[in-house]
Amino acid sequence: MLIFGDYHTHTKYSRNHHGKSTIEENVKIAVQKGLKEIGITEHGFSHIFYGVRRKNIKKMRAEIERLQKLYPIKIYLGIEANLISSQGDIDLTEEEQSWFDYVIMGYHIFAKPKNIKEYFNFFRKNRRAYKNDKYTDDIVEANTNAYIKALQKNRINIISHMGSFMKVDAIKVAEECKRHGTFVELNARRLCFSAQEAKQMSKMGVEFVLSSDAHICTNVGECNKGINFAIKNNIPKDLIANLDKLPKFSYKK
Ligand SMILES: [Zn+2]
Ligand SMILES: [Zn+2]
Repeated sequence: MLIFGDYHTHTKYSRNHHGKSTIEENVKIAVQKGLKEIGITEHGFSHIFYGVRRKNIKKMRAEIERLQKLYPIKIYLGIEANLISSQGDIDLTEEEQSWFDYVIMGYHIFAKPKNIKEYFNFFRKNRRAYKNDKYTDDIVEANTNAYIKALQKNRINIISHMGSFMKVDAIKVAEECKRHGTFVELNARRLCFSAQEAKQMSKMGVEFVLSSDAHICTNVGECNKGINFAIKNNIPKDLIANLDKLPKFSYKK
């Protein structure tokens, strides 16, 4: 079994030294490891500490075009956008979505909420629930709806580390992913849904994508945690979009 592409990697463009390597370093390692494709996906604009700056996107695109001529690998420019409200808003306008080849979306505790109401009713509530490990049914339902609305409102190609710092009904979110052709990520750093949920998703025919979420070039292409999880839970190879094949990024409204 071979991983053909790694679609979730960070570089120095994620601010405050969050990503440690350059785009070229990530690309070089990807080539060395035999990948056919790599995606550069910095943290979205609203991440208080690590978000990529809007003004750098053009620079990144130019850099990718330059590297594309030098290395035998397809290089994508994506982004890891943030969920910023319970109403499914993300930190990318429709126009900004068109700057990227594909969009990953995830929840990050240090993303700036859409407004003060969302801070109190959505972000702070989740933070407390996580801290005290007390997620009420109401909170989980609101979180699940937020993800579903985000998938309906935005062109989201991958959901990153679903359930991380925000408990959701993973089956309901995965159902919505399937409707839109969105991949559920098997993240090498954070895998937050249960074995049972993974099995149920497989039965539903949900598609997955393995990714490293590398923050340093040496981790590019390292997806063992996701692979082991898939093997352990009998996720069929056919349902893993980048295993022995290349994924097609498409989004259906
Ligand atoms: Zn993330
Ligand atoms: Zn990430």
